[in-house]
Amino acid sequence: MHKKEVKTTCSYCGVGCGIIVKKDNNDKVFVEGDKDHPVNRGMLCSKGMNLHYVVNDTSDRILYPEMRWSRSHPRERVSWDDALDRAASVFKSIIKKHGPDSVAFYVSGQSLTEEYYIANKLTKGFLGTNNIDTNSRLCMSSAVVGYKKTFGEDSVPVSYEDIELADCFLITGANPAWCHPILFRRIEQHKEKNPHVKIIVIDPRKTDSANFADLHLQLIPGTDIILYNAIARCLYKRGLIDEDFIKNYTEGFSAYKEQIFATSVKDASKICGVPESDIRKAADMIGLSKGFISMWAMGLNQSAVGTDKNTALLNLSLITGQVGKPGSGPFSLTGQPNAMGGREVGGMANLLAVHKDLQNEEHRREVAQFWGVDQISPKPGLTATEMFDALESGKLKAIWIACTNPLVSLPNTHRIESAMKNAKFVVVQDISHKSDTVAFADLVLPAAGWLEKEGTMTNSERRISYLPKEINAPGEARPDVEIFCDFAQRMGFRGFNFNSAEEIYEEYCSMTKGTKIDISFLNYDRLKSEGTFQWPVPEHRHAGTQRLFQDKKFYTPSQKAIFNVATSIENTSMQPNGMYPLVLTTGRVRDQWHTMTKTGKVSRLKTHYPTPVLEINPVDAYLSKIKDGDITEIKSENGVVRVRAKVTDNIVKGCVFLPMHWGKQLQSDLNRANNLTNTLVDPISKEPDFKFTRVSVSKY
Ligand code: SF4
Repeated sequence: MHKKEVKTTCSYCGVGCGIIVKKDNNDKVFVEGDKDHPVNRGMLCSKGMNLHYVVNDTSDRILYPEMRWSRSHPRERVSWDDALDRAASVFKSIIKKHGPDSVAFYVSGQSLTEEYYIANKLTKGFLGTNNIDTNSRLCMSSAVVGYKKTFGEDSVPVSYEDIELADCFLITGANPAWCHPILFRRIEQHKEKNPHVKIIVIDPRKTDSANFADLHLQLIPGTDIILYNAIARCLYKRGLIDEDFIKNYTEGFSAYKEQIFATSVKDASKICGVPESDIRKAADMIGLSKGFISMWAMGLNQSAVGTDKNTALLNLSLITGQVGKPGSGPFSLTGQPNAMGGREVGGMANLLAVHKDLQNEEHRREVAQFWGVDQISPKPGLTATEMFDALESGKLKAIWIACTNPLVSLPNTHRIESAMKNAKFVVVQDISHKSDTVAFADLVLPAAGWLEKEGTMTNSERRISYLPKEINAPGEARPDVEIFCDFAQRMGFRGFNFNSAEEIYEEYCSMTKGTKIDISFLNYDRLKSEGTFQWPVPEHRHAGTQRLFQDKKFYTPSQKAIFNVATSIENTSMQPNGMYPLVLTTGRVRDQWHTMTKTGKVSRLKTHYPTPVLEINPVDAYLSKIKDGDITEIKSENGVVRVRAKVTDNIVKGCVFLPMHWGKQLQSDLNRANNLTNTLVDPISKEPDFKFTRVSVSKY
């Protein structure tokens, strides 16, 4: 018998599906899709529909603070007072001795906006360092730079409503059929009703998304920019560009035109491994469509040339004038549920809240004034991978890790282990003992999870939703905002005396007034009574903004969108050689989420892809004398992985694929894909190059 039902939002991916939660008389929860929700209309994917198992099973939860006084002693249970007093005393003493840049916070795209905001205020405003970064660095930072360079701000112009208005989709470096399933279901339904709708997928793997497409361009990894430029060249030659849009609303076209004409379609075809006719076909599908949407995710972002890949793709929307009108636009698919909310509050080492710029003195002064502090440091903080480099070198002494598991998710994980061992003080604030990172903590703080705390999140289409607290957290676990505020007060900082998440949200909302992401008229009451809203919501009774740039005024100084010319059309990753002849690309599987601390608890989610396997092309398998099912040893300059082989032409020749979810806790050290991955990052976005590591593969 269900006592009560409430509406909330799924805590997994950036699609942001609405969920109805029901509780029984024993306070066990059940979930179902919210039929009235504008995103999912009642549908849920396998991860979302099994969320209640994750909540009801508390066997892995961290129940009380644990601390150790030295590395030679085990951690012991302590009170919250002892835990946070120790944290404050260690942070004070390290900062006094080594300066504010000797400490750092590493947070998460799964944190709620209020948590993100308060951690950012604490670090940048009061600790006096910009050393706060987030696992969104591994996910979205190349897209952020791409949008900023093209439109002037990190602004996703599109809405899910545009899906049903478009007649051509270019899905590239993404497998939404598995990783954004409900969004992909909407595309499938749209195509089922409108068979003329065209879907192009660009991916080195034949994924479920590619299988549904009208055209799959199975490119050689790392050749994306050349392929997008070749498509642009065909569009130009066929007269399928929007000259009026280019002339009146953009800048930089001539330099771009020069670059796209520097490589012939024939040469591009050879470099990319894609038939010339398919490149021309893709250009026709795009150029002849009335509404063209591009969608992308990690295949573009996680690259040593991630920023250039993003701008090269965005150029296809500009050259066709497909921005700011119904059924069109470039749509980056956010991996995590609140990656966008984190960007709004400036939750990265090079950003300030409300899309202000850390490099802009006036912006720093405005933010400092708002928080009542003397100044914000002009020095960019350490990004995710830089933090662990600095721990390893000893420049960074203490790190506070909240809601993320870098021991599985960061590249070259053996190096992350040695960095953590070298840290003087490690705080891990999390919900689960199954996080590999907990093993390295001097202080473990139990955090409340989904349904155990309230706050807001923003999905991929700028849609803000309110998530209510419905159940009590187990043991002594507390909401992250309470933990951060309590610590800040013990550090002696004013400005953290909040009584609720709502008060924090209100402070943040007032900060947005007059900005491009203004939500100063969107309070908790409206979110609770009227549902979700897409930012900006700049006026009283404003219904939210479905689509940006309808007036063709972009956020650049000239108000024009900018064609960016790729600094390098070549991939700058370390190329395969005699010792490491293959390219490893990593990614996700349908029923697992990140490092499996949540989805790994649900038996029915393990049946689809129970253990990690290496996907290898039949030609590469033959050359390496590997048969389907053999145990293989994959080696790179950084480490080793041993898993069974799956011989399949789903993966292009010369490339192998491993899923990224498995860590030591769940299987063994030898299943962890990031043992292998290289440490290159994009020079601007600082996003790691997960999709291109040279490796060797042999039968074990
Ligand atoms: Fe949750 Fe994403 Fe699945 Fe929707 S598509 S139910 S948001 S995991």
